[in-house]
Amino acid sequence: MYQSTSMKSERMTKVAVLGGGIVGVCSALALAESGVNVCLIDANKPGQGASRGNAGVVSPWSVVPQSTPGLWKKIPGWLLKEDGPVSVRPAYSPRLLPWAIRFFKQGKLSRVYEIADAMSAINASNVDLYKHLLGSLGHAKLIQDSHYVHGFRSVNGASLKTLDYEIRRQKNADLELIDAETLSRLEPDLSPEFRSAVLIKGQARILSPGRVCEVLVERFQSLGGEVRQSRIDSLTPGDSNAGLWEVQTSQGSISADQVVIALGVWSGNLLKKLGVSVSLEAEHGYHVEFPEPSVQLNHSVMDMDLKMVASSMEGGLRVAGTAEFSGLDYPMTEKRLVSLIHGARKMIPGLRDIEPNVWMGTRPSMPDSLPCIGSIPGHNGLIAAFGHSHFGLMMAPRTAEIVKSLVLGQSVDIDLNPFRIDRF
Ligand SMILES: Cc1cc2nc3c(=O)[nH]c(=O)nc-3n(C[C@H](O)[C@H](O)[C@H](O)COP(=O)(O)OP(=O)(O)OC[C@H]3O[C@@H](n4cnc5c(N)ncnc54)[C@H](O)[C@@H]3O)c2cc1C
Repeated sequence: MYQSTSMKSERMTKVAVLGGGIVGVCSALALAESGVNVCLIDANKPGQGASRGNAGVVSPWSVVPQSTPGLWKKIPGWLLKEDGPVSVRPAYSPRLLPWAIRFFKQGKLSRVYEIADAMSAINASNVDLYKHLLGSLGHAKLIQDSHYVHGFRSVNGASLKTLDYEIRRQKNADLELIDAETLSRLEPDLSPEFRSAVLIKGQARILSPGRVCEVLVERFQSLGGEVRQSRIDSLTPGDSNAGLWEVQTSQGSISADQVVIALGVWSGNLLKKLGVSVSLEAEHGYHVEFPEPSVQLNHSVMDMDLKMVASSMEGGLRVAGTAEFSGLDYPMTEKRLVSLIHGARKMIPGLRDIEPNVWMGTRPSMPDSLPCIGSIPGHNGLIAAFGHSHFGLMMAPRTAEIVKSLVLGQSVDIDLNPFRIDRF
């Protein structure tokens, strides 16, 4: 049962979904579609966090975690480069260390294969789920079939023998190695510096992640779902007459039988107040988006040297990337933006000479790249749905299905052990 003590609402709801990013929005919608009364709470308009500015990649073949064998050898070189794909604020390094140690430990070969299985369980159906969802709402055009073009600057750079492609192939991904000529036919606006590429076929790209959140929220509201714009301050076990949990917000408190925690990178702070610790790290990423760019990409394209992903979107040509570890509240860094703009122009030289729109968002990153999904041990009625790292957009619809099953007490058709909140 849900009650607003501030607004004395007569309407009763059962579930409070905390956080209106893509994970919270999909979860709230899946519950509302099943007839559950839901209140979705976010400090802002839903879909303004990491879920708005991402690269829009939706791939059943995103089955390779961030930490892989031998990665540690590349990191020092990346850190030393001004425009390297990874940066760590020196003063933040001591706080990052425990997470970083866990991250590198996950890079053991045997562990990488286990993680790949878990990622596949969540990602295998992502394109179909989005197509069905957006199609049924009359917004099929927000998702487009796409290859993932991984571009390399040397003729021999692209090889299907490396571990990441080997893993994808084992999961039945359709991969093709192409030369510079084929690449320039496929993506004529891409720099001729790219001399070889791997195509990962059978995936899709979202043309406006922000609009996807908007249309899903509209549907949620049309089903009677409530959206509350309030800051969530804390969560406490409630008076059992009113509900199991009390959510304290900037506009009064809300009681609910069950609470879904989908606050992205902020989930850790809320849980800490309940004595639950989670190995969640803030990984800032940026995008630069060139409106009316006068060039066009036909697919999602990853620059494998600079680790940036480019995609033509509704708002222009977006180039997203960088992994910056500087602490949750640290602001946007000018230096990272400059290198992203420079990288974008190197990747797509015909980009019109205009100031891009710039954005920073924060990935909720776990050491093993797997989200936390499931009931939180020792806290009846609390469900975790956060920590989706680099993959939250694509993992959201399947996460939502699992959340729905957990709320309704139905069995879940995948093993949730790899996603346990207490695994570290
Ligand atoms: C540069 C970049 C590129 C990316 N590219 C891709 C990609 O191509 N494909 C992909 O699948 N993923 C991608 N990702 C990852 C993806 O964007 C995230 O994993 C995903 O958006 C996380 O969604 P979320 O709903 O968990 O969190 P968020 O979108 O961050 O939502 C959390 C919400 O909680 C709210 N909130 C937080 N604290 C409070 C509070 N105290 N009170 C009330 N509300 C609160 C926030 O306002 C926010 O709306 C990318 C990320 C970045 C940064």
